[in-house]
Amino acid sequence: ALQVCLPLNALGFVYREARDAWVNAERLFALLRERPDIPETPGLPRLRAGPGEVVFEHIDFQYEPGRPVLSDVSFHIPHGTTLAVVGRSGSGKSTLARLLLRIYDPDRGRILIDGQDTRQLSPDSVRRAIGVVPQDAALFNDTISNNIAYGRIGATTQEIIAASKSAHLHDLIELLPEQYDTAVGERGVKISGGEKQRIAIARAILKNPPILIFDEATSALDLDSEHAIAQELDRLSRNRTTLIIAHRLSTIVNAHAIIVMERGRIVERGTHAELLRRKGLYARLWLLQQRQDQDLARHGASSS
Ligand code: ATP
Repeated sequence: ALQVCLPLNALGFVYREARDAWVNAERLFALLRERPDIPETPGLPRLRAGPGEVVFEHIDFQYEPGRPVLSDVSFHIPHGTTLAVVGRSGSGKSTLARLLLRIYDPDRGRILIDGQDTRQLSPDSVRRAIGVVPQDAALFNDTISNNIAYGRIGATTQEIIAASKSAHLHDLIELLPEQYDTAVGERGVKISGGEKQRIAIARAILKNPPILIFDEATSALDLDSEHAIAQELDRLSRNRTTLIIAHRLSTIVNAHAIIVMERGRIVERGTHAELLRRKGLYARLWLLQQRQDQDLARHGASSS
């Protein structure tokens, strides 16, 4: 999962203290609960905006010496297409996202966005091009409207409402005691995991980036929410270069390409249909999930 470090209380404090001074990148890390490892170095050129093509070339990476986490990982996400990454917990999926965001730099290999090596670019400019929907977005102790607006400080009320409509949040917000002015976060109304992910989707809609990272929730949502979020993701990722860290294989059946990670290496790649025909790890994971879903359906039916 794309989250580590920073206790939330401290973040809330920092946020309130310096709301307007915060640059985009730091806000992003707060939302991700990540701490950037690569500092902003003055004078680095900025990413030249393009269609958002992403290339990983022979990437090796380790957090600690002697414990390789990624080995010789290469892939290409053409403009506007979706690449899904699957694999067991710890196989290195989230690390790919962290490298793309320049939270860390690779030990070997290059990461290119629109042909530009990210290592030679200002990290802030890279992060501005990327929207992230983490599985467990941080909420600040503020109104739901302001929480959505963190996607883009300065968004108008109309833009916030439009984004929450697209993220299927609007009807829900209308039911809250003070609608868009309702307080959420630790001291506000309770927000479910699925709703949090929708808030993150609304933030991403406001940001409107060419590249999107979607970290699918691991915690089981009910099938209706899961379906709704899959649909929203589908719309959000249309015409954007998208990297999905997938846990539910049903969400990625239509991905343009899928890579299967094991111990930091890509062990299989192809479309859903190609990978099923291969009868390898992906096909096994797929069968396993099908069986779990059937059990769930049967269980659901017997309890009603
Ligand atoms: P999950 O599905 O559980 O989120 P993942 O496939 O995304 O797992 P990563 O988070 O990329 O896996 O982690 C890959 C490996 O790197 C794991 O062995 C993990 O323990 C290790 N790791 C992750 N973050 C750090 C860190 N900050 N410092 C040291 N090791 C780390």
